[in-house]
Parts: sequence; structure tokens; C-alpha cells
Amino acid sequence: MKSGNKAAALKVVETKVSATKPASKYVTKAQDAKKDERGAIGDMFEKILKDLGEDPSREGLLRTPYRAEKALRFLTGGYTTNIEEIINGALFTAENDDMVVVKNIEYYSLCEHHMLPFFGTVHVAYLPDKKIIGLSKIPRIVDVFARRLQVQERITQQIADTLMEVLEPRGVAVVSEAQHFCMMMRGVEKQCSSTVTSAMLGEFRRNSATKDEFLALIRSSLR
Ligand SMILES: [Zn+2]
Repeated sequence: MKSGNKAAALKVVETKVSATKPASKYVTKAQDAKKDERGAIGDMFEKILKDLGEDPSREGLLRTPYRAEKALRFLTGGYTTNIEEIINGALFTAENDDMVVVKNIEYYSLCEHHMLPFFGTVHVAYLPDKKIIGLSKIPRIVDVFARRLQVQERITQQIADTLMEVLEPRGVAVVSEAQHFCMMMRGVEKQCSSTVTSAMLGEFRRNSATKDEFLALIRSSLR
């Protein structure tokens, strides 16, 4: 009796599965690709794939033009980010004039000569006069300038100039150390070299003791 019931129950389950065949919510990349809306940049990426000798219609590449456009738009999002919106509401009255240092802010950017990534860290210091800024805003300012087509020297200078303008401090110092894929993967193919750039404004430029104090504070962070 018992074994008979079991067999009947199994049979019912089988019938159910074969009868309904519901559309799966799990889809292949090819099915999924239909949902993507890509713009002119995506169309150009498809052309690039073809020109490279690839087949943009193979499954692994179907969504690549869409993804590449989305990634490139994210990595260059700094062009459309408003610095004022980031900073407003995060400025406070300075209660003392001691040096403020934010070390090891990591950033990722694209070199404007090859559109290949370069990445590294930036160390920022300022000497407050009347205003200070919420510390989390400094990395956000770094990202605004990093997410553009850049050269390392310019990012460094732009961060310094922005803090100088916004905080009107007695001085700003910015040191950046980065590795460039256009040097590591092509060209001279030097994987271990890094490039250091700096911008010193106000007291950091005028007063070597102030500059040295900052450099001593970040020395352990440099490679
Ligand atoms: Zn380059």
C-alpha cells in the first residue's frame, strides 16, 4: 500500500512539470541583451569590436558595447558633477589653525593620452584660517577630478586650487603617487615605477618648515 501511494504521488509531480512549462525567470545573456538601451557611444564600441576583428554578436560580447558605454560614462562622471553641491552644507567655522591632513585617498582615473587607467593615492593637507570642511568631502572632491580624462599633474593641481578657493586657508598641499597602465602594459612596460606629483600653495610654498612637516607626516605612506 505505502509504496503504491508513493509512486502515485511522484507521477503527479512529473505530470505537473511537463504540463505547465513556465517561462524561466533565469535568462541567457542573449535574451537579456534585448533589454539594454545603449547610446551613440555603445554603437561606436560595437564598431570598435568589429574593427578589432571580433564578432560582436557572440554571446559574451552581446552586452559589451552597452557595458563599455556605461563604464566609460561612470569613469568620466566628473565632467557633470557639481563641486558646489558636494561642498555646500559641509563647511564649518575653524576652531583652531592646526594643520589638517587626509592621507591615502585612493583614486582611479583615465590618462588623456591613451584613455588607459592610472590609479594611486593622494595626500591632502591644509592650514585652516576661518573655515574647515567635512573630512569625507575631500575624497569626493578627489573623485570629481579623477573621473575625467586626466594627467596626474592636473588632478593634483585642481584638488589644491579647489580647496584654496573653497576654504580660503593659509595654505594647501597635495601630493599624489600613481601607477599608469599606459606605462605598465605598453610603451616602456615598467610595472614597478610610480609617478609622484605635488602642488604646494600659500604657507606650504612659502614656508619650508610647514612643507617639511607635511612631507614628514605622509612619508610613511609613499612607496
Ligand atoms: Zn597614457
